[in-house]
Amino acid sequence: MKKTVLVTVAFLMLLLSCNRQASRVMITDDQSLTTYAAKIGDEEIQSECNESLSYAPYDDQIAFMDERVIRLNFHFLDNEARELNLTPEESRKFVYHLVENANNRLGRNFKMNLPIGNDTPNLNPRYKYIVQATPEGKRGIFHHYDEEHCHFFNKGNRQNNYDRDVIKKYAVQQDSVCNVFIIPQHPDSVASKTYSAHDTGIALGKAIKLGGIWSDRRPAWQYGTLLNHEVGHVLGLSHAWYKNDGCEDTPTHKNCYSKHDLRCNGEISNNMMDYNNSQMAITPCQLGRIHQRISKLRSLQREITVADWCNYKPNDPILISQTLIVPGARDVNRDIIVEAGGILKLQCRLSMAASSSITVNKGGVLVLDQAQLHNACDDLWDGIHVMEGGTVQYIGEVTIEDTYATKMDQ
Ligand SMILES: [Zn+2]
Repeated sequence: MKKTVLVTVAFLMLLLSCNRQASRVMITDDQSLTTYAAKIGDEEIQSECNESLSYAPYDDQIAFMDERVIRLNFHFLDNEARELNLTPEESRKFVYHLVENANNRLGRNFKMNLPIGNDTPNLNPRYKYIVQATPEGKRGIFHHYDEEHCHFFNKGNRQNNYDRDVIKKYAVQQDSVCNVFIIPQHPDSVASKTYSAHDTGIALGKAIKLGGIWSDRRPAWQYGTLLNHEVGHVLGLSHAWYKNDGCEDTPTHKNCYSKHDLRCNGEISNNMMDYNNSQMAITPCQLGRIHQRISKLRSLQREITVADWCNYKPNDPILISQTLIVPGARDVNRDIIVEAGGILKLQCRLSMAASSSITVNKGGVLVLDQAQLHNACDDLWDGIHVMEGGTVQYIGEVTIEDTYATKMDQ
């Protein structure tokens, strides 16, 4: 009897020591998830994946929100006599300074003027523009001398601001680039006393038309906020002075351009999506809407964004040593390591770059709450490494896709 007990104890100890040597398990699909992770709850009603603020670039989310880069190119329309717009040499400098100025203004993001006394944070926007070269390596700046399409009318019987003909004729790389058309206001309009030929723009899907008096050769910085406003539309923002722009942090107001407008009693908006002489403020909700669109698979906003999330950075892991809830969908290009004391809760879609992995170290906890882990780049990632003493828990339906192991099963 005694012997039997001893043998049993010895066997159990052997088992335990074997377990100790098994330093990690891999969770690479839905089946290994149910084997190695603990279900801690059923599906709950959850709408955070669809809320704009879940995508706002708050400081604690920055590791999961790389700066996004939007591709632009520029088309200068002119008459055949080449009288109404910049020369190719001038346009190169103009585009360089315009994009630099617009990026600089985005980066400065002012605190909101309205509502008076607000404490709305002015976050780093986490997006900017580049001028996209063509596949042949040509600069993304084009000139078109075209009598039919070289005039912009934003009202009157020749109004053509909503007309897409010039886009259809000249846009290039439309699948992946926002084409910006620089179109002269008609000289008759400029001369007219009743028609105010001012700088104006319109966003039409992935394209933008900017109307102005380009022949007066005003400096590019004067158009920086106009570009930011129109790209804001392309990225999914509405005018902010209305109630239904989808953001509670952009109050309704009378949309006065400056403090000289007596209707507003000196309370002038400085939001980028209002008409005012600043346009230097973007709210967390507006930024959230932009990043939400970019995070949405197959959205037009995602198509014109450089897919940096596909470029794996192997030597720069995201380290989680405290509690972090990631409330929206994300695309990351780094490994994730949940360290001792760290709790990482993923609630929506997360794309992991090719070859990357999530490691849960001893004392670390990963919670997958109705999450979808995958690779959004038609590639494969390495799955979740659960080290001894690490914990993975899940709630509701979780999917783990596009790992090497799933590929080998096929
Ligand atoms: Zn607008």
